[in-house]
Amino acid sequence: MVPVYKYIASKVASPCTLHICGNTMAYLPYLPDSNIDLISVDAQVDLGFAKSILGKKVALGGSIPTISALLFGTPKQVTDAAIHSIKSGVDVLMPACGIPPRTSLENVRAMVDVAKCMVYQ
Ligand SMILES: [Zn+2]
Repeated sequence: MVPVYKYIASKVASPCTLHICGNTMAYLPYLPDSNIDLISVDAQVDLGFAKSILGKKVALGGSIPTISALLFGTPKQVTDAAIHSIKSGVDVLMPACGIPPRTSLENVRAMVDVAKCMVYQ
């Protein structure tokens, strides 16, 4: 897929984000050559490993567990997951996948509050 990602990135006049669901740890070594600007990883991916592979060439996004934290967790669980993601090296705090329908506003706010707090420290 790297040639396809390179082609897409060459045609997009803005930073490119790629999200791949599931455990992508086997694919990560190929992605720094893809010209993608940010890789969004799922909750199964070890963030420290991902950061060590991607380095500074590709930003790492993720990875608050979508179902267990955002949909069914408490704001405290979302906060803990967000802090864990940042401390593990993510450059952009985001859900591990999409935001599920019926996710509580309090849980989304918990994620945003951590991002604001970490940015302004
Ligand atoms: Zn996904």
